[in-house]
Amino acid sequence: MLVVDGLEVRYGDARAIRDVSIEVPDHAITSILGSNGAGKSTLLRAIAGHLSSSGGRIVFDGEDITGLPPYLIAERGIAVVPEGRRMFSHLTVEENLLVGASARRSQSGKRKRLGEMYDLFPRLSERKQQQAGTLSGGEQQMVAIARAMMLNPKLVLFDEPSLGLAPIVTDLVFETISTLGQEGLTMLLVEQNASLALATASRGYVLEQGRVVVEGDAATLQASPAVREAYLGMG
Ligand code: ATP
Repeated sequence: MLVVDGLEVRYGDARAIRDVSIEVPDHAITSILGSNGAGKSTLLRAIAGHLSSSGGRIVFDGEDITGLPPYLIAERGIAVVPEGRRMFSHLTVEENLLVGASARRSQSGKRKRLGEMYDLFPRLSERKQQQAGTLSGGEQQMVAIARAMMLNPKLVLFDEPSLGLAPIVTDLVFETISTLGQEGLTMLLVEQNASLALATASRGYVLEQGRVVVEGDAATLQASPAVREAYLGMG
């Protein structure tokens, strides 16, 4: 379980998130909602160790990981599917996946995991030698998810998986996320598409101007007048 307690992150003098406390229970999908600039990506990047915090704590499986560098956070079992996919576009699909594997793992261990990823994403298996930059947006998102899964993570952080994808492709990506959830993977999902996020997650938080303004199980959020009005386009 991941616990974020009273976290504050600044960009210079500007506080992007303040006093944010969230819990991400094991074997469930937790979602962070909020409009542009609410601080969702900042929160994820702080959890992954890419931004340092100016207050609060991040505790994972009972260990205080606040301030650890990204590679040590990855070693603890936290993987990231970044916004915009961030492919190595001139490398092949397979090379991109191998980048995701832990350096500590043996060659045979990496190959075995690669095979598991191809079973999970047959489409990537067909395209393993294709340059990642020539894949469709949806296929690139699959690579980004498979690359994160190469770590054998305990927790996966998703930053806006639907960004820039056509609705039908977005549905496919969320089906994959749901499948991983049914297999017991713990996920924290940052998503602007609130109806999709709440249909997928069991719990969620709404961030506004860097603060948590609503939290609860997905059904409670879905029924909340503030969420319906601001994020689901319903009055
Ligand atoms: P979006 O959905 O648009 O990505 P978000 O909820 O993820 O939004 P953040 O990207 O976390 O929001 O941004 C939170 C606030 O921090 C915004 O006001 C943004 O302008 C500011 N911010 C983000 N990155 C930086 C940066 N590198 N330097 C200065 N300010 C930043």
